[in-house]
Amino acid sequence: MECRVLSIQSHVVRGYVGNKSATFPLQVLGFEVDSINSVQFSNHTGYAHWKGQVLTAEELNVLYEGIKLNKVTHYDYILTGYSRDTSFLEMVVDIIQELKKVNPSLVYVCDPVMGDHGAMYVPENLLPVYKDKVVPLADILTPNQFEAELLTGRKINTEEDAIEVMDLLHKMGPETVVLTSTDLPSKNGDQFLVALGSQKTKKPDGTNTNQKICMDIPKVDAVFVGTGDLFAAMLLAWTHHHPKDLKAACEKTVSVMHHVIKRTITYANEKAENQKLPFDFWLTRQPQSKNQVFSFNCSSSVFQR
Ligand code: ADP
Ligand code: PLP
Ligand code: ZN
Repeated sequence: MECRVLSIQSHVVRGYVGNKSATFPLQVLGFEVDSINSVQFSNHTGYAHWKGQVLTAEELNVLYEGIKLNKVTHYDYILTGYSRDTSFLEMVVDIIQELKKVNPSLVYVCDPVMGDHGAMYVPENLLPVYKDKVVPLADILTPNQFEAELLTGRKINTEEDAIEVMDLLHKMGPETVVLTSTDLPSKNGDQFLVALGSQKTKKPDGTNTNQKICMDIPKVDAVFVGTGDLFAAMLLAWTHHHPKDLKAACEKTVSVMHHVIKRTITYANEKAENQKLPFDFWLTRQPQSKNQVFSFNCSSSVFQR
């Protein structure tokens, strides 16, 4: 059975974020991906320079009109990420509402991309739109710690805080919430990154259950961009196969993440050693002492079932 995803995210010429991170891995896993590029930039915004175009709300609507005229509006999933503009995001909301009417079992996976490590990298006026209009429509939400704190107005200092924040996010709409990365200490030591998840489901007898999970992810000593986008796409894929088992879906998602990140770091290190790179190559990779910012290297064998 065909499973069709509408993915509204960024496109970059160089590197892998947004649709460049999400599309190929989803296709390899057998999904049909229809992509709308919310922006087309030369590269991600963590580089010293970036240039490009931003799709306006009107331009988004024109593309959607074309899809509607051809009566190809049946989607199984919508996936959204990076957006810089309130009117664009409001148009996305209108489209999701319409598509949910066409297919009432459509699942909306929302990565509320706003920032990281205490700083917003999109305009601040996007926050109320996410809070009041976008998150209430989401079925699956994948904020990082900072985005979850922004959406709920609550700080996360302990695991209990994280659980409370996920419960507050459930109250706003989504049945499945994953905090994709946090600063919480791992019980297994500082070599691990902690992510948490919570899923509310209805059992056949009508009673509600809530599965809560905590994951220790082996840390790699580098900063990656686009990993949040790959995480959301892979969570979509694996919740499709395990709709009522967040633990299984997250384990498979994190496994993909780990393989891609390991391969990326190995590739980057090999390239650096073998090529005696000129200095400007390093400049384009934004070196920050030991913490270098990489885009990642998507490779098919990692994603095979
Ligand atoms: P976002 O970009 O949305 O803030 P993150 O990149 O922090 O999201 O996290 C998404 C996922 O990427 C994590 O759950 C983890 O699997 C992976 N990841 C990101 N950075 C690292 C890292 N330095 N070491 C290991 N895994 C990482
Ligand atoms: N899209 C663009 C154009 C970006 O510049 C970024 C981050 O800088 C992202 C998406 C989101 O990346 P991440 O998956 O790391 O949250
Ligand atoms: Zn992100």
